[in-house]
Amino acid sequence: MKILITGGAGFIGSAVVRLAISRGHSVINVDVLTYAACLGNLEPVAHNNNYIFEKVDICDREALNTIFAKHSPDVVMHLAAESHVDNSISDPKVFVETNIFGTFNLLECSRNFLKEHNIPKEHFKFHHISTDEVFGDLGHLDSTESKKPKYFTEDSNYQPSSPYSASKASSDHLVRSWSRTFGLQYILTNCSNNYGPYHHPEKLIPKTILNAINAKKIPIYGKGNQIRDWLYVDDHADALISLIESNIVNESFNIGGNNEIKNIDLVYSICSLVEKCYPAESNKLMQESNMKNYSDLISFIDDRPGHDLRYAIDPSKIKQQIGWSPANNIETGLRKTVKWYISNQDWLNFYT
Ligand code: NAD
Repeated sequence: MKILITGGAGFIGSAVVRLAISRGHSVINVDVLTYAACLGNLEPVAHNNNYIFEKVDICDREALNTIFAKHSPDVVMHLAAESHVDNSISDPKVFVETNIFGTFNLLECSRNFLKEHNIPKEHFKFHHISTDEVFGDLGHLDSTESKKPKYFTEDSNYQPSSPYSASKASSDHLVRSWSRTFGLQYILTNCSNNYGPYHHPEKLIPKTILNAINAKKIPIYGKGNQIRDWLYVDDHADALISLIESNIVNESFNIGGNNEIKNIDLVYSICSLVEKCYPAESNKLMQESNMKNYSDLISFIDDRPGHDLRYAIDPSKIKQQIGWSPANNIETGLRKTVKWYISNQDWLNFYT
């Protein structure tokens, strides 16, 4: 298949590009290269004959029209977005522009492309990659609930809390409406928190690993009681590619790893994994700061406004319909991730 992937220089997008090419697909990566992008993530495929990079802003309709006409994709996998919740609180405008207006542009370009080239609607699909954060907050796990906890299903109500999740929720609604009104075939996926190699250093897991190695404070919001359901990024990429390879259209799927963990417990686990790979007593920076344990670097900071307490996914629909399940659990995935960051510190040079 010829797949136009937006945001392919980002964390998840680059994992999808690498996997799509390894499965024999052709990829056109459309990315404007914001601060979050890293071309280093694409080095394994940069010279592959099935890979093309186009530096284009999804908010630029004319440039997008040219890309569609030039490459005639069979599928769009739309991952380009502003993705960091903290940034959406300090500067929400670009979230509305990229996540809502950018998605609108792509939908319109897809629709016009089919019309102008007389391509039957059944020969094209639009896969929109979204987040579980659109469903809002599952709240505290109290003693009665812990026996029968709630999970997000494909039928959960939309109740976004942050400008980021509200912009993603809006884009989800646009995608469904373009299908219902204009007949554009879609797949919509809402995934839990991803982690793994090539994750931008601003995010919790890489920041914890890198701050530990560099003997810097490890900041945690509030008391670190927030619960997230973590999925190893290559497992997410596998789910996404498997869905577009299937015949399923006009359905949404929740994707998650059944790996719920409190932020504070996650950070302690990372500290002990870093200790195993790079003992604090052999780390010059830790010695210079008179620090014995990586966990001594943990520092609690004011909680994020509107911070959701718990997200958790029920992934049974995707398991039943295409037989997908994650190959990694949080132990195996975190071990690989910590090792990768310790062995690939040069990768950070791509950001400077
Ligand atoms: P990311 O921030 O790492 O990458 C986003 C990419 O989009 C970057 O390469 C950036 O340059 C590109 N981009 C941004 N604005 C653009 C524009 N106007 N035009 C073209 N390209 C643009 O994001 P990520 O973590 O890889 O997330 C990818 C998608 O998956 C997002 O849509 C996000 O909402 C969704 N998602 C992320 C997670 C997660 O845990 N990271 C979980 C579920 C869903």
